[in-house]
Amino acid sequence: MIKKLLIANRGEIAVRIIRSAKELGIKTVAVYSDADKNALHVREADEAVWVGANESQESYLRVDRILEAAKKTGAEAIHPGYGFLSEKEAFAESVQKAGLIFVGPEPEQIRRMGDKVEARAWISELGVPIVPGTGALQDIDQAEKEVDALLKSRPDFCFPLLVKASGGGGGKGMRIVKKREELRQALERAQSEAQKAFNNPVIFVERYIEEPRHIEVQVLGDGESAIHLFERECSLQRRHQKVFEEAPSPSLNSSARQKMLDVSVQAVTKMGYRSAGTLEFIVSPDDDFYFLEMNTRIQVEHPVTEAITGVDLIAEQLRIASGEKLRFKQEDIQVRGHAIEARLYAEDPDRQFLPQPGKLQFLRFPPYAGIRVDSGVESPEVITPFYDPMIAKVISWAPERSQAVAKMKQFLQKTQIEGLVTNRAFLIEVCETEYFKTGRYHTGILENPNWRREPLIPAEIYALACLREHLQTQSFESTRPLSAWQTMERST
Ligand code: ADP
Ligand code: ADP
Ligand code: MG
Repeated sequence: MIKKLLIANRGEIAVRIIRSAKELGIKTVAVYSDADKNALHVREADEAVWVGANESQESYLRVDRILEAAKKTGAEAIHPGYGFLSEKEAFAESVQKAGLIFVGPEPEQIRRMGDKVEARAWISELGVPIVPGTGALQDIDQAEKEVDALLKSRPDFCFPLLVKASGGGGGKGMRIVKKREELRQALERAQSEAQKAFNNPVIFVERYIEEPRHIEVQVLGDGESAIHLFERECSLQRRHQKVFEEAPSPSLNSSARQKMLDVSVQAVTKMGYRSAGTLEFIVSPDDDFYFLEMNTRIQVEHPVTEAITGVDLIAEQLRIASGEKLRFKQEDIQVRGHAIEARLYAEDPDRQFLPQPGKLQFLRFPPYAGIRVDSGVESPEVITPFYDPMIAKVISWAPERSQAVAKMKQFLQKTQIEGLVTNRAFLIEVCETEYFKTGRYHTGILENPNWRREPLIPAEIYALACLREHLQTQSFESTRPLSAWQTMERST
């Protein structure tokens, strides 16, 4: 087993990794920037090394300093967490060249999956359905021709279309094209955005699946064999970024689900994939599913999978990185109950979810059976403008989905946060909507300005229910004498 691990990350995921490492008897080394000098992950690690100034380019993305820190402290392995260097093939390669263990897959696997066009081609060969679409496009005239040819030859490639960046991530750089006249401009704009954001001008065009769900499969491989740990549904998104995630999916039919799990395991087994990974799928209203991309790292929402399977995914990553073989057979992995995760952020839902850094004066989570909180902050503490303004991930588990939703709502209501604008009230409101309570939702629901008004209930039914409630309240009131304050209210 690895004896000493450096965590090349910050915030809740660094704290999370440190805790699992300690349980396995592994010594831990944190790295930090100026702003994170007193951060929780620094306090929880056995040792900590400063790696630079506040901006991530100057600290958490500095490969040279991170390798230097590992050398100085004698760490034998590096866990990259998510974000930052986690999907940079060059980083994984440098770690290996320095004679250290990279806690993740082979650099070549990261490279192939980091390029969406290449990943689509590869995964399709391995027998997984992909969204109908083009290959890599660079020259715009050529791109138009290719799209036109495909529109003619493939009936399942049709409008609306989605232009995407091959090197994209974080929900950025996507453009919907509703009709042919919009194509050229969309290609041009998407290309220039892709160049700016990802330093890679390669784009491709996919069919845009309408009212879809985002469902993903968690896998674990040891280089030889692989298993799945069931799926997560992450369809509650705003601007293609996940807000709530849950496991298992409340909507997928069981035969589609089994097929999705089977093709995922077959593909990662054939790949010889090592470590934890996720295959993301877009799912049509008829439960047809198509591969979107594979994330070759631990994911933000991994705790919901841990909650329903009882497997510590970080611990398994560390065991596999140490050279152990998978400890589980597929039949050892069973689903128990239902788990939901909410991402609690310092951001303003009334102003396009703009980050709201500042001083977190007071933060208190109530003790609650069945709730897990993964957080990287303790009050009083400053949420800096330099990184993701996440306060915590709240994970609610219960035997039944409806209980998990009710528990999440109560917990968020009893959570005390002072000093910052957060999305807490927004999360509570989502828990109260009919579509969340019933589990019938798709990725566009939070983008609809009427999301609060429970769009799945026809307006006339809603109106009738309101009228009924109103009439009942009236008759109830008239049967008893009015209290002093009711009389007062009425007379004013
Ligand atoms: P997951 O895929 O694990 O659900 P996200 O899609 O939210 O998680 O991305 C994981 C982390 O990586 C987040 O902290 C996010 O901010 C960061 N991230 C992903 N892609 C980008 C990108 N292109 N630019 C900046 N940050 C990114
Ligand atoms: P990223 O690397 O930015 O995470 P993804 O390909 O995983 O990119 O897509 C992110 C999100 O964008 C998905 O969860 C989904 O909401 C939306 N999306 C992507 N491709 C499609 C598609 N073909 N049809 C409909 N929605 C899509
Ligand atoms: Mg994605």
